[in-house]
Amino acid sequence: MTAVRAEVRGEVQGVGYRDATVREARRLEVMGWVRNGEDGAVLVHAEGGEQAVDDLVSFLREGPPAARVAEVAVEPTKAEGHEQFAIRGVSAGVFVVQEHAATARHFDLRLEVDGTMRSWAVPKGPSMDPAVKRLALEVGDHSLSHNDFEGPLGDGAVIVWDRGPYEQGGRVAWPEALERGHAVFVLHGEKLRGGFALQRTRRGEKPQWLLIKRRDEPARPGSDVVAELPRSVVSHRTLDELLRGGG
Ligand code: MN
Repeated sequence: MTAVRAEVRGEVQGVGYRDATVREARRLEVMGWVRNGEDGAVLVHAEGGEQAVDDLVSFLREGPPAARVAEVAVEPTKAEGHEQFAIRGVSAGVFVVQEHAATARHFDLRLEVDGTMRSWAVPKGPSMDPAVKRLALEVGDHSLSHNDFEGPLGDGAVIVWDRGPYEQGGRVAWPEALERGHAVFVLHGEKLRGGFALQRTRRGEKPQWLLIKRRDEPARPGSDVVAELPRSVVSHRTLDELLRGGG
């Protein structure tokens, strides 16, 4: 077992390089990921048998026909236990967080997975502080058509507190990652940004999870994003204004 990080430079973005790398990695049974860097490079994490990883690095030096590879820098790294070879940095769909006044106030986090919105009720709402673990109660799936809903609902009301595209991350492919109870994802919302993890802590009829911000560049230790940014990203109203019939 060996693991490397490779940085590929040249004309390597927008020429099918990532797709070709995924195909070759899967053929070689190498695990890890490929992503476009912000500076025109393609970045690869590869782990597996030494010969297979060497073969993938040889492939990276050639690339698909349309690529012009100028340089491949390879560094040994730690194996991370990946169980797939995936393209990173690609949207998997949308996420939405709706603040919902019902019997109790809560935030509903919904992630698009295979055409439906997997949903968790988060009583205290999400946090951008990696030290904070927020209880997230798994609730029934919602349809995508509910994502834009904002307004009175029953005796309460709903606002669209945040939304945007998201990426599926982690070592295990989705949706299996959710089934196994540890799912890592990257949010590109207006308020929530960067990596998050959902970790299941209790199975059964009403599964319980923890929602945790990962330590990364967008993380904001000590912050309280729910208190700091209470307004709807759609109407700019707060839930209280909506409940009072204002706005
Ligand atoms: Mn709800």
